[in-house]
Amino acid sequence: MPQRPAACLFDLDGLLLDTEPAHARAWQEAASRFGRPLKEAELLSLRGRRRLDCASQVRQWIAASGGPALSEQELLAVRQPIAEALLAGAPAMPGAEVLVRRCLALRIPMALATSSARAAVEVKVAPHPWMALISERVYGDDPDLVSGKPAPDPFLLAARRLGVAPTACWAFEDSRAGVAAALGAGCRVHVLLPPGVSCRAYPDGVVCLNSLEEVRLDQ
Ligand SMILES: [Mg+2]
Repeated sequence: MPQRPAACLFDLDGLLLDTEPAHARAWQEAASRFGRPLKEAELLSLRGRRRLDCASQVRQWIAASGGPALSEQELLAVRQPIAEALLAGAPAMPGAEVLVRRCLALRIPMALATSSARAAVEVKVAPHPWMALISERVYGDDPDLVSGKPAPDPFLLAARRLGVAPTACWAFEDSRAGVAAALGAGCRVHVLLPPGVSCRAYPDGVVCLNSLEEVRLDQ
């Protein structure tokens, strides 16, 4: 197996930017407003998925526990203003900028494979000029995208746009849905473990990281 990746495919939320606390808090506040606080495991299961897919899941939880029958739009009308205020200030994850700059120095092509919509990504990356070094991007609302994570489509599309085989790519993820997507695409998967999640939760061959600072691209 070649040691150096043909390309690096990066997730955004919870991987390059520390946005997951903001996402979780926004879902928690919105669900609580309808009388259905979310459990920690439920919040974890929302990670890495597209906003509309999350809204569909949360509205089902609310309805199943006797709460109001909401549409996704009614739920998002409450959730989005909370999320947007929190997300605009999200910091980078430790080691993220160094890793991206190292890829650039080694001439390893990079792409973003995110479930986040283009407009939301623009808000989040605005304080982080180094994010512009990742010029190829697959967004959650990408017109060429059929299915979101956990389907492999975002990683397959990112690899295709870079002109490399997905099996020669390293994918960097933090969520269950994202790891499933990257494995399905055939990538070599690196998972940045969320707090309280063990490497035993992942199949053999997945590289577990406690920080992006542990990544070695040129061993
Ligand atoms: Mg993520």
